[in-house]
Amino acid sequence: MSQTASKAASKTHNNDKNTNATSPHYLMWFRRDLRLHDNTALTALCEKAATDNAQVSAVFFLTPKQWQAHDMSLVQVDHIARTLPILAKTLQDQLNITLIVHSAPSFADCIDTLTTLCQKNHISCIMANHEYEGNEIDRDEQLTKQLAKDDIEFVRWHDQCILPPQSITTNDDTMYQVFTPFYKKWRHTLDVDEIQLHDAPAIKDNHDIDLQLSKTSVNTMKEIESLCKNTVEDYQKTLQDAEALQHIDSEEQLKHARDAYPAGEKAACQQLERFIAEDINDYDVGRDVPSLNATSQLSAYLTIGTISPRLCYLQAHKAQEKLHGNDGDNEDINRWISELAWRDFYRHVLVDKPELIRHQAYKDDTDKRINWSYGDDDFQAWCTGKTGVPLVDAAMKSLNTTGFMHNRLRMVTAMFLTKDLLIDWRWGERYFMQQLIDGDFASNNGGWQWSASTGTDSAPYFRIMNPFSQGKTHDPDAIFIKTWLPELKDIPNSTLHSEEKLRNSLSKGGKFASLDYPLPMVEHKKARELAIAEFKK
Ligand code: FAD
Repeated sequence: MSQTASKAASKTHNNDKNTNATSPHYLMWFRRDLRLHDNTALTALCEKAATDNAQVSAVFFLTPKQWQAHDMSLVQVDHIARTLPILAKTLQDQLNITLIVHSAPSFADCIDTLTTLCQKNHISCIMANHEYEGNEIDRDEQLTKQLAKDDIEFVRWHDQCILPPQSITTNDDTMYQVFTPFYKKWRHTLDVDEIQLHDAPAIKDNHDIDLQLSKTSVNTMKEIESLCKNTVEDYQKTLQDAEALQHIDSEEQLKHARDAYPAGEKAACQQLERFIAEDINDYDVGRDVPSLNATSQLSAYLTIGTISPRLCYLQAHKAQEKLHGNDGDNEDINRWISELAWRDFYRHVLVDKPELIRHQAYKDDTDKRINWSYGDDDFQAWCTGKTGVPLVDAAMKSLNTTGFMHNRLRMVTAMFLTKDLLIDWRWGERYFMQQLIDGDFASNNGGWQWSASTGTDSAPYFRIMNPFSQGKTHDPDAIFIKTWLPELKDIPNSTLHSEEKLRNSLSKGGKFASLDYPLPMVEHKKARELAIAEFKK
């Protein structure tokens, strides 16, 4: 474990309002780590509190302005809002810790509130887990300076990855530029005995803290539930006013997401258990078939931190040992572990190249060379699933309706936008963030730049997915396509998987000419040639 800390000796505070001024008081700041199990900062803080006989409180900031600046989707905000009351209750029941929820429009407000909270309540140490996006890093650095004025410690821990950023480097101590050698080293380094889950000890005699709160802070269950509910409603309204929800029925998306992702760490851990007991055994093949839903569906939980990535890894590793003993090797399980490694990889890349947060291309020469298109009509056709390419349209409809898209389809739709339509990957990146329940800067940016051939480990730009052959391979019976595009139910699968046949049957005089479904908006072969010419420039 490594940490960054602003260390300082403790100093007596002027404010003597606190009821228990003699025993130290510490604060856990929850961010994207909404769980008790294997939470690095929470464990460290509770252990320190046990040693120092200190009291502990916790805080979470609702930051709608910041969320909007990050294009955070309504379904993700709703997921956080559904999770917080559960976190508050579990913290209280299991660790005797009170969660304070505070609505803070901006990051500056977070800093002011934390400073005041510490002063009013004689808090001498705050702990949190690292966040790796630029604004968050700046905020933490400002806060460190601000708190140091009052000799308050602010300690941060690496927790979001299985292995922390900057721990997997080449022999020259630089970050890997491509995934495969990174993965080799990552697996090698991952000595299972070293990975241990840490659970926080309960804080004894912690009930009687008389917390001094500001007007906009709440800490009873009822108040937290109500504040969270209002925050989601306000956020929805803000997005509506900004026309960010124009392509979706947000009530329907919320309903789907709430059904698919029950909130809280217990639900997340049950989902992991179910996956390890069942679908992981066919993961290598099943993961590429969108209609099967055979992937873990854990990304939404990993993104807001209701499940520990180390727990995911360890459970998979245990399953492998159970099947194959100590020298266990299982293609399905290995493949899943490698997906967890992709998640680590993109976070390590972001820490290594923080300018990515400003949406610069990883291969920055591509920004100068490629003449991206900004055709709004083409972009709208892609967003709304009206490109005339069945797999792309079905995928976009599934995203707009559920707030989730299968990984294979993320690649297909992203390549279609950036190669067939030559539209700037940043437009697609943003649209995904606005819709996805698992929207996460590092993975989303990494996935988009991979697909656009501007990022790490890019597929060579001339390898461009043909969305029709992708349909034939990964949705041969068109089950996924017909689920999301029921208007195509009578079209034979072989027609749906062939651009030429589909174009003929939808054109005037064709068998399905009367269908309300557009002709494919580009000819893939021609579009591919144009994209290659553009990339070659
Ligand atoms: P599983 O297949 O069960 O994988 C397990 C976990 O591994 C996932 O939950 C996820 O945390 C991680 N993972 C899997 N594949 C990848 C990958 N390619 N890159 C990084 N991590 C991965 N993932 C996000 O979590 N948030 C995003 O915003 C996001 N945007 C993407 C955009 C594009 C264009 C592409 C191509 C991929 C994106 N991904 C993103 C990665 C991937 O599509 C999702 O993580 C995956 O579909 C989630 O489903 P699952 O939990 O069932 O995954």
